[in-house]
Amino acid sequence: MANKFELYINTPDRVFYQGEVNMVELATTEGEIGIYADHIPLTAVLMPCTLEIHEDGENKKAAVHGGIVEVLPDKVVVLAEIAEWPDEIDVNRANEARIRAERRIASHEDGINMMRAELALKRSLARLGAVD
Ligand code: ATP
Repeated sequence: MANKFELYINTPDRVFYQGEVNMVELATTEGEIGIYADHIPLTAVLMPCTLEIHEDGENKKAAVHGGIVEVLPDKVVVLAEIAEWPDEIDVNRANEARIRAERRIASHEDGINMMRAELALKRSLARLGAVD
């Protein structure tokens, strides 16, 4: 049986999640990581991504949109700017945002803020991944 750890996910307006988990998967600016109990202490910048919580016998998915993740000796704390459970996500809106962002990225038009379009694409994919 794997060791467990306490996971906290907070946003500016709510305690989004708190529970004992086996593992959490998320994306940082350094890449995608899976954090288990006894992970080395770490502070990283969270990217917009589909975060996956592995509980006993159940996985929960959520979309998170940037923030920080802190791996401490006894817990993992995610401070997210925005976090959404699947039932809070409007799939059509996320799909439209994805199409808009992909079109902007592909257009190579002057005046397109590439980084903004790429972040919008990541947000839409984070949402669509959470409702899979
Ligand atoms: P859009 O282009 O559709 O506005 P966005 O990625 O630019 O998407 P954000 O800036 O990330 O939107 O979010 C603005 C607010 O709208 C937040 O409160 C966020 O939770 C909400 N929101 C955005 N997209 C969705 C969605 N598909 N379903 C539910 N809420 C959403």
